[in-house]
Amino acid sequence: MQTGRAVTAPAALTDSLLGATERAALSAIFAERVRFDEPLAPHTSWKIGGPADAFALVENTAELAALMRYVFKRKLPWFVLGSGSNLLIGDGGIRGVVIRLGGEFARIEFLESAPGEVLARAGASASLALFTAQAASRGAEGVGSIAGIPGSVGGALRMNAGTDREIGEFVVEVRVQSPSRPEPRAVGVQYFYRHTSLAHDAIVADVTLRFAAADPGVVREEMQARLVRRKRTQPLQLPNAGSCFRNPPNDKAGRLIEAVEAKGWREGGAEVSPLHANFIVNHGTATAADVATLLARVRRAVAERFGVELELEVHFVGVFA
Ligand SMILES: Cc1cc2nc3c(=O)[nH]c(=O)nc-3n(C[C@H](O)[C@H](O)[C@H](O)COP(=O)(O)OP(=O)(O)OC[C@H]3O[C@@H](n4cnc5c(N)ncnc54)[C@H](O)[C@@H]3O)c2cc1C
Repeated sequence: MQTGRAVTAPAALTDSLLGATERAALSAIFAERVRFDEPLAPHTSWKIGGPADAFALVENTAELAALMRYVFKRKLPWFVLGSGSNLLIGDGGIRGVVIRLGGEFARIEFLESAPGEVLARAGASASLALFTAQAASRGAEGVGSIAGIPGSVGGALRMNAGTDREIGEFVVEVRVQSPSRPEPRAVGVQYFYRHTSLAHDAIVADVTLRFAAADPGVVREEMQARLVRRKRTQPLQLPNAGSCFRNPPNDKAGRLIEAVEAKGWREGGAEVSPLHANFIVNHGTATAADVATLLARVRRAVAERFGVELELEVHFVGVFA
């Protein structure tokens, strides 16, 4: 979470940091597009997480700049939520302002490009699934490697999401906004395995991507085959957040977890998926505490047996008991 100041811990786990003045100011900017004490579980793929003090739907760069100025001036903590497909939000929720981009940020445009290329600009809140489907229809070679990953373009950029190839490989420009520099500007980004050099307080506004052009039929077919494989190998019927741990160098987290026979381990409503060992599924009643306990148990078992400290791929955010 991005915080502008040390926050005095509220008395109870979910006590709001926002007083009447802050609530009135946020309502003046966003009207009905800001909600207070909003439960976050429905906004995540795990369906887990306590309330946000404020949950603001921001529809364009001017509104985002206004909000950035406000949180900067008031030193309010904030967090930008994409589609919530890589997050474990604490049962105590998130203090301060949770920002959800929408409106103009969902735009996808295909731009004029050099022969043999497909050039596109996608807003941060555009669905990656929609983007990859449209890009495949235009013959964007390699787009299949980022297809089937749930989430938004902004979240994918932050995570450098991918499979055998990652989104960073195709990026030509990233525009961001931040509290100290609220107007959109282009920044250079370096890409690593499931993370990037993007500043912690930078909110991605949009991303321009370039692909080599290939036969759209072939690209679509390859993408379809990957989607079918995902359905077969991932427990998509139950809420989850994809792979919980990053793969260690030259190995697979899933293989190590399977080897310690963790498949089927349970904690409350959370279970290590019997289908894919690196997934934890929510049977409906799982809390963030259940998932955190299960993750710690798996991590300990792998460390004891193999001496490998698994690193989390999912981001822990907010207040945990
Ligand atoms: C079934 C399933 C399969 C998955 N398969 C894969 C896979 O194959 N490969 C892979 O890499 N991942 C995979 N994931 C994980 C996840 O989908 C990706 O990490 C995805 O890119 C996260 O995007 P999001 O919009 O949901 O981001 P969120 O989960 O909402 O946020 C993730 C991080 O990005 C930050 N963020 C979000 N939007 C912005 C923005 N506009 N600007 C700056 N920061 C932002 C958030 O603050 C947070 O730190 C899978 C998840 C699921 C549930």
